[in-house]
Amino acid sequence: MIDDNDRAWMREAINLAKTKGTAPQDTPIAAIIVLNGRELSRAVNETEETCDATAHAEMMAFRGAGPAHGDMDLRGATLYSTLQPCGMCTMASIWAKVGRIVYGAGRGDVHQMYFEDRHLDTMDFIKDAFRNDLVLEGGCLRAECAALYFAPGDEVPVDEQGNL
Ligand SMILES: [Zn+2]
Repeated sequence: MIDDNDRAWMREAINLAKTKGTAPQDTPIAAIIVLNGRELSRAVNETEETCDATAHAEMMAFRGAGPAHGDMDLRGATLYSTLQPCGMCTMASIWAKVGRIVYGAGRGDVHQMYFEDRHLDTMDFIKDAFRNDLVLEGGCLRAECAALYFAPGDEVPVDEQGNL
């Protein structure tokens, strides 16, 4: 259940995302990992800056959270992401053993360019995992998060579409 505490962390994530800019072309995607009320790490999407297709905000946050925690096992932690995690970041969440993923804008709120698979959804990756204790909750400050991204019907130049 998404509560005020979650909304406060998501607001932090939105503000962090906006440090990259507020236009979809700026890729304002951010993630924060919180354990026992304490922030372990925060990160923005850095794919273009680092020439690294895996440098999604969530992946960068995992790279910070492990060392901050002194353990790659983030059991009990919550991953906040302004955008529904892609398959890669969902799988990383499973490997990192976070307990909960809370995201803002969902797949239906944004352009398809943000996802690699035509049909498989974040939940599809999770439901078949060996772990059965990972909770996924979307729609936290949905409208504010969705406003940062290309919308479903937007005409997006092909060279802006990272999944093509
Ligand atoms: Zn991702």
